Amino acid sequence: MLLMKKMAVLKSHGLFDIVLEMRGGASLSLTSLTAHELSELLDKRELSSKELTVAHLERIGSVDDKVKAFTTLTAEHALLQAEEIDKKRVHGEKLSPLAGIPMALKDNMCTRGIRTTCSSKILEDFVPPYDATVTEKLNSAGTVLLGKCNMDEFAMGSSTENSGFFATRNPHDLNAVPGGSSGGSAAAVAAQEAVFALGSDTGGSIRLPASFCGVVGLKPTYGCVSRYGLIAYASSLDQIGPLTRDMTDCALVMSAIAGHDPKDSTSAPMDIPDYSKYLVNNVKGMKIGLPKEYFGAGIDPQVLAYLQQAIGKLEEMGAICEEVSLPHTMYALPAYYIIAPAEASSNLARYDGVQYGLRVEAEDIVSMYCKTRSQGFGDEVKRRIMLGTYALSSGYYDAYYMKALKVRTLVKRDFDHVFENYDCLLTPTSPTVAFNHGEKADDPLTMYLSDICTIPVNLAGIPSLSLPFGQVNGRPVGLQLIGKAFDEGTLLRVGYSLEQSTNLTKPLPALKGGSRA
Ligand code: GLN
Repeated sequence: MLLMKKMAVLKSHGLFDIVLEMRGGASLSLTSLTAHELSELLDKRELSSKELTVAHLERIGSVDDKVKAFTTLTAEHALLQAEEIDKKRVHGEKLSPLAGIPMALKDNMCTRGIRTTCSSKILEDFVPPYDATVTEKLNSAGTVLLGKCNMDEFAMGSSTENSGFFATRNPHDLNAVPGGSSGGSAAAVAAQEAVFALGSDTGGSIRLPASFCGVVGLKPTYGCVSRYGLIAYASSLDQIGPLTRDMTDCALVMSAIAGHDPKDSTSAPMDIPDYSKYLVNNVKGMKIGLPKEYFGAGIDPQVLAYLQQAIGKLEEMGAICEEVSLPHTMYALPAYYIIAPAEASSNLARYDGVQYGLRVEAEDIVSMYCKTRSQGFGDEVKRRIMLGTYALSSGYYDAYYMKALKVRTLVKRDFDHVFENYDCLLTPTSPTVAFNHGEKADDPLTMYLSDICTIPVNLAGIPSLSLPFGQVNGRPVGLQLIGKAFDEGTLLRVGYSLEQSTNLTKPLPALKGGSRA
């Protein structure tokens, strides 16, 4: 209600640059609101989707030269979509809670008629003839697509510095990386350029950027969200999920994108849950495990202090937090760096200059393949293709690939074992806050270590959420909750309870203006 009055004032003053005084003197602008707050205003016709879309396009216009979150903007398309939704609303059509909400997609999700590059030169001019299932689902929910977000090329990386086009910056500190590979998606939400965004997570690519940019990011259970139309990196690990400003939006977006899809053979045969029903502020009696392997050496003491604060809060609310052990954790990263490149080397074989994407002409077909792939792929992608091809080659297959699969099973069993007695686990999303631009760019092994806390979850196929929880020198800290397969509900419930109990989960101000902190 308060919000509604504020918005009416906002409107009467000329919508877009007025920042309002909120209770307690905090400020509020249109681009700082969540999808569920905006949905209320749209429903009451205090605001039109077109106005909201224009506000976001203006925000992009004023900050994206610094943040560089977008590879492609779809302004005209967005305004048309917004107008269409506004018309439907005027005609009294029943609309979804996300109808009219401006959002962005990572540039590895196919959008019919709209360039989809994977931030790679090899797909620089690729315009898909079809929509990914998530694109289609968000379209039918009536969301408005503002554009496609920058990423590490083919989702290989942890900082978005591996984009074939340009690096994205962290909106909280332009000297810092936004995390990766969904860095553009997380930065767009944090910089108030989009209300929410979708990312994909193969080893941490939703959660790490969520953590570094101070937003909520959920990697759903493998099979929960369709991968149809997601350009593949490592098919047995990839999952699409939301990046949002709070837990309620996370649940809303999940309800819009989850569910069985006959077009994806690995999609789970499940009904679409109403994830909002898990937004319950109650963790009483819940058993939360604290895996000791995630709290050891290498964790920044200030990050650890925030985690301890979160644990204290949960205990205060009646949860039982106890140390547990996942003994094979240390083998997860090396296993991942065999399995993911192995799958990638196979998936990326299709970029050969024949059917689509870049083609560099040459005297014969083999030279054409070589030139196309040499010029089209960046260094990190080439490194992964070589690693994967080596691990799969005859004579090495058993020693590397098969062994890594066996380790994967052990990692999964560790989780199965603790989940016999615990409802979920709590860890840092990353041992440190965002690092500086260029700090790890020339050192792939150090870069690979950024995902040490997130990778085991992908190997096990289970869901995991990153929630903002405080900041160190203006750079956000992320807390990771890990759950049982298809039990996203528990993660939403614990995350929501924390969100209700402390301001540490609230978005920090990013760039200038429009903060709600
Ligand atoms: N950083 C990890 C990698 O480069 C994870 C990336 C991802 O989740 N897509 O493989």
